Amino acid sequence: MPSEISDITVTILGSGTCVPSLKRSSCSAMMDVGGAKLLFDTGPGTMRQLLKTNTTIFDIDYVFYSHFHPDHTAEFVPLLFATKYPNVNQRRKSLTIIAGRGFFDFYKKLKNVYGRWIEIAPGILKLEEFETKERDHRDFKAFSVASMPVEHNEESLAFRIMSTNGLSVVYSGDTDYCESLIKLSHDADILICESALPNELRVNGHLTPSLAGEIADRAGVKKLVLTHFYPECDQVDIEAQCRKTYSGPLILAEDLMRINVSH
Ligand SMILES: [Zn+2]
Ligand SMILES: [Zn+2]
Repeated sequence: MPSEISDITVTILGSGTCVPSLKRSSCSAMMDVGGAKLLFDTGPGTMRQLLKTNTTIFDIDYVFYSHFHPDHTAEFVPLLFATKYPNVNQRRKSLTIIAGRGFFDFYKKLKNVYGRWIEIAPGILKLEEFETKERDHRDFKAFSVASMPVEHNEESLAFRIMSTNGLSVVYSGDTDYCESLIKLSHDADILICESALPNELRVNGHLTPSLAGEIADRAGVKKLVLTHFYPECDQVDIEAQCRKTYSGPLILAEDLMRINVSH
């Protein structure tokens, strides 16, 4: 837990991708802020990773989806099913799911397949769509959030979480190099940024360590956390590649790593 309730603690639940790996679980991160627990993406295996941090699904207040690729959303259905069975009353507080435009339709299609197995009482489950063409923003009691569209899928968003005492953490989701992520990350305390593949294996729609470093440098972030590593990243010196463009504090994510953010 954060030392002050308004501080932020980041826990990397999965630093990997769609590739099965015993070292890196699929994409997911957790933030503790203002007494609320936030999940960012729920790739396959997320609920078991949560348990390793002594957290259950019933402790989670908000889930943010950066986009709909299965390595980021696949555990959504099991999460809803486990919320409903065997004892629907285990969840007493609401669960708010936030994602870009298209999410209501995505959820409707899942319900066409799974029906009542994933239907949660409307008073408990709340779905919110954010704009995907421009900046969006919401204020919640424990924190506020801003989002920007990023270059990956049409529904792709990056999120900036701001605590009531002025700390901020940005979660990039998957993205190519884009000005909107630089803008959203301006002066952030931490940027959790995808760095899918080494510089020499760059593909469209994803970043490399050098490109992530350039974004962090131009945004002036106080700390950069690289994550979303395909196995190829574990064969090369990711830190050296990132250092070509970024000289500030740098962390290479590992599963279950915790990062405290305070003044
Ligand atoms: Zn993706
Ligand atoms: Zn991904």
